Amino acid sequence: MDKEQTAIMRLQEASKMSLQIYGQPLIITTSGGKDSSVCVELARRAGIPFEVMHNHTTADAPETIYFVRSEFHRLENGGVRCTINKPTYKGKPTCMWKLIPIQGVPPTRLARYCCEILKENNSRDSFVVTGIRWAESTKRKNNRGVYEAGREIILTNDNDEKRQMFETCTVKSARVCNPIIDWTDRDVWDYIQSEKIPTNPLYNEGFCRVGCIGCPMATKGRAAQFARWPTYKRAYMRAFEKMLDVRKRKGLKTLWENADEVFHWWMEDGVLPGQMQFDDLEADDEN
Ligand code: SF4
Repeated sequence: MDKEQTAIMRLQEASKMSLQIYGQPLIITTSGGKDSSVCVELARRAGIPFEVMHNHTTADAPETIYFVRSEFHRLENGGVRCTINKPTYKGKPTCMWKLIPIQGVPPTRLARYCCEILKENNSRDSFVVTGIRWAESTKRKNNRGVYEAGREIILTNDNDEKRQMFETCTVKSARVCNPIIDWTDRDVWDYIQSEKIPTNPLYNEGFCRVGCIGCPMATKGRAAQFARWPTYKRAYMRAFEKMLDVRKRKGLKTLWENADEVFHWWMEDGVLPGQMQFDDLEADDEN
């Protein structure tokens, strides 16, 4: 069976389970990236009911926001329900720039509080589909599967012996299907080109990833992002200034004199020791 048919079969199975367990269609989460665009097209071809959801991180590039809006318009015209979630924290609207002073540290590879609050807060009690792939990182290769129930049951292939456990598990936390988990980058791009799937225009500018601007998980390319979107750099700098004020007010240990120093530390650009050296920095425990 080819990879398209395998992915469609995974989606059809997940759809049946979603309707049975949660009484609602699968929810395809989209970041505006190419992998989620492929998942939406596969779900359409699978002939299953599905909805599409985007979590607005507030640090997405404007091009990504426009692309998601225009794709949602196209999908809604085809009868697909689409939702854009705006982030909240402790019941109030929030954004990346408000979270940094509240948390007392910039988001880092080891302290990704922003993902938890801005991106992963809206799909509990549902069966979601993501475009996660093993080819993206070794960590994903080791920790992610075709189907997942919470962090406990992970099926790494279509005939995994834990399948019955997954299907009968009564825990109603989020279940996940990753239908293209075994696709390579080449598979994804070949499929996009052969099936003429619309993609985020930032790929045409040479960007390999289209997530949040300044994401600490993006080890390369952050400097190019800030050169391309300088208003985002200014927003981070203002957030770092406010963060330092809060740290000083609360008497927390502070390594930096000003926002510029925070920025160099965070960017790991060699001007100051990088974020990994200070990842044990005292966070504001009240948050
Ligand atoms: S900046 Fe990175 S870690 Fe933070 S929400 Fe965005 S993707 Fe997640």
